[in-house]
Amino acid sequence: MDRYSRQHRIAGIGQHGQERLRSATVLVVGCGALGTHSADALARAGVGNLWLCDRDVVEWSNLQRQVLFTEADARAGIPKATAAATRLREANSDVRIVAHVAECSATFLAALPGRPDLVLDGTDNFPTRYLLNDWCHANRVPWIYAGATGTEGAAMVVRPGGPCLRCLWPDAPATADVGTCETVGILAPAIAAVAAFQVAEALKLLVGSPDVATGVFTCDVWRGHYTRLPLLDRPSPDCVACQHGQHPALVAPAPMAATLCGRDAVQIDPGTTAALDLTALAGQLAEVATDLQRTPHLLRFTADGVRFSVFPGGRALLFGVRDPLRARALYDRWIGRRP
Ligand SMILES: [Zn+2]
Repeated sequence: MDRYSRQHRIAGIGQHGQERLRSATVLVVGCGALGTHSADALARAGVGNLWLCDRDVVEWSNLQRQVLFTEADARAGIPKATAAATRLREANSDVRIVAHVAECSATFLAALPGRPDLVLDGTDNFPTRYLLNDWCHANRVPWIYAGATGTEGAAMVVRPGGPCLRCLWPDAPATADVGTCETVGILAPAIAAVAAFQVAEALKLLVGSPDVATGVFTCDVWRGHYTRLPLLDRPSPDCVACQHGQHPALVAPAPMAATLCGRDAVQIDPGTTAALDLTALAGQLAEVATDLQRTPHLLRFTADGVRFSVFPGGRALLFGVRDPLRARALYDRWIGRRP
């Protein structure tokens, strides 16, 4: 236990808290910037069981902020969950780590071998966050929402019986309405600030501390602003999950990805009938995508070396990619899914 000697001197943890951490299981969904920061901290803190889930591979543009990855990982295109697990085992061989190279879907969550004690949001998209919200609500598992773009970040602890993400925002914002790391960039300290909040709250939850923060943590590291908005202290009377026990994300049709036979291309069908505002999307991508072309029938652009053709219903063809998981990651990154 010597390796944790500085940690269990913290009054709220102690030897007893350290034992609780050792027997805890945390599911980290998304091994990007936030997921790698938080998983690294939890492994070093001695959280005994970490389940990692990510569908993508390490790329050069990740290395600026995704702290568990190396140039060798990017060169070899190692799956993020696999690379993260390797690095975490080097940091703390006592932690039992399970790496899932998979899409976090309702099916994936249902197939987990048990309920984790806590779920951490390391995702980069709202549809997956609403899925986590609904699954955690249905299974009475706490989770910690977190996100960062540009120089700003936000995070919130969601506990069984307390306000959930749908209480705050009834529906996921459309990707065209919120910036992404691809369109507005991401400054690594914004990730570190949000991860610090997420990990501190995670440790408090896992040791059973009464000091878990309420409200919404927000920060802008460029301006030096760090605040917590005391927005909610009880579930919203209008929330479909908290008041009506409905979990729309658990029953929503999952997006379908199909490799086109004989072609280096994948078709993504988002599985919704909601229209996608191609003009708004084109405006958002104007400065970050190349070969952008808006026609009356579709939007074409190139990003990450892949050629996209996007149709008004959200269906898209991705040329230059064969792996459906990779294609779905690119789709969510550049187009996003409607809830
Ligand atoms: Zn709610």
